[in-house]
Amino acid sequence: MSYKAEYIWIDGQEPTAKLRSKAKIVPDGEAPPIWGFDGSSTNQAPGENSDCVLNPVLMVADPVRGGDHKLVMCEVLLTDMTPHPSNTRAACAAAAEKYSALDFWFGIEQEYTFFDGIKPLGWPDNGFPAPQGGYYCGVGSDEVFGRPLVEQHMDACLHAGLAFAGINGEVMPAQWEFQIGPIGAPTAADHLWLARWLLYRIGEDTETVDGRKGISATLDPKPVKGDWNGAGAHTNFSTNQMRENYDACVAAAEALQTRHDLHIVNYGHRIEERLTGLHETCSYREFRYGVSDRGASVRIPWQVARDGKGYIEDRRPNANCDPYTVTRLIIETVGAAATA
Ligand code: ADP
Ligand code: MN
Ligand code: MN
Ligand code: MN
Ligand code: MN
Repeated sequence: MSYKAEYIWIDGQEPTAKLRSKAKIVPDGEAPPIWGFDGSSTNQAPGENSDCVLNPVLMVADPVRGGDHKLVMCEVLLTDMTPHPSNTRAACAAAAEKYSALDFWFGIEQEYTFFDGIKPLGWPDNGFPAPQGGYYCGVGSDEVFGRPLVEQHMDACLHAGLAFAGINGEVMPAQWEFQIGPIGAPTAADHLWLARWLLYRIGEDTETVDGRKGISATLDPKPVKGDWNGAGAHTNFSTNQMRENYDACVAAAEALQTRHDLHIVNYGHRIEERLTGLHETCSYREFRYGVSDRGASVRIPWQVARDGKGYIEDRRPNANCDPYTVTRLIIETVGAAATA
C-alpha cells in the first residue's frame, strides 16, 4: 500500500513569493524522497534549464485527505543540492544554528483577510460596513464573517500537529488572526507556511455566505484603503536570557533599533502602506519601544514588565512577510548584540 504526500514549496514570484504544491504517491514505510519540479513555471529557472529540486524538511499528517496521507514542507535546491536563490530557509537555519546557545523561540501572529471575489467576505456589494469599533473579537452574524472556515482551519492545524496557539477576529470585519508558537527557528516559519497553505486549501472547499463555493484568504498588508486596519504578522520572540531577565528583554529591543532600516525593507512588500503611524502602528520612518504600547515598533507586554522576564513583540512585520527572513534577521540582530 501507499500514501499520498503533498509536497509544498515556496516559489520565486516577485516581490512576494507564494505557495505551490503537488502530490506524490509514496510506498508505505518509505519517507518522501527528494523530488523535482518545473522551475520555469514558478519563476525559479529558465526554460532551457528548468529542473529544480524539492528537499523535504518537515512532514506532518494531512488533515485534508486524512488517513495516513501527509503534507511535506520542502525547501528548494539547485540540482547541485545547494540552496536555490529563492530559498530563504537555509539562511534562517544557519542563523539559528550559529546562535543555538541562545535558544530563540518565536510566536507569530498571522493576520489575514477573507475575500469573496473582489470584496472582503460579508461586505456589502456597494459601499462599506459600519466603521471599525465593534468587530475585534466580536460575536454575531452582523459582525463576524467566515467563522466556519476559521474553525475548520484551526482543527486542521491541530490535526497536523502544528504549534498552533489560538485565533481571534480582528478590528476590520472579515479580518482574522491565528498564532503559531512559541517554537524555535526555522520550525516556527515551517509551521506558519504550512498553516497558510491549509488556510488557502480549505478555503477552496468552503461556501461563502451566499452559498457559493470558495473563499480566498489574502495576506495583503492593506487590503482596503482608508480608515481600515492593515494586516500584520507581529513576531514575538525570546532568548533563554530574556526568559530569565528583564534587562535582556530591553537589550533586545535596543538591538533591533540599531538595524531598523534593514529589518523594515525585509519585513514585507508595501510595508509603508501599513506602518503609517495610525491603526495601532508606528510609522516605518521611526523606531520606538515601550511597555504595553501598541503604537510602538516593539512592545514589551505588561506581564513581562511585571514578571521581570519573558519576551518582546516586534510589531513591524507585514502579514505578507516571509517568516524565514523575519526570524533570521531577529536572530542575527539580537544574537550578535547578546553575544558581543
Ligand atoms: P497580542 O496580545 O499581541 O495579540 P497574541 O496572544 O496574539 O498577542 O500572541 C502572542 C504570541 O506570543 C503567541 O504566539 C505566543 O505563542 C507567543 N509567545 C508567548 N510566550 C513567548 C515566548 N516566551 N517567546 C516567544 N513567543 C512567545
Ligand atoms: Mn509534466
Ligand atoms: Mn494577537
Ligand atoms: Mn492582531
Ligand atoms: Mn500582537
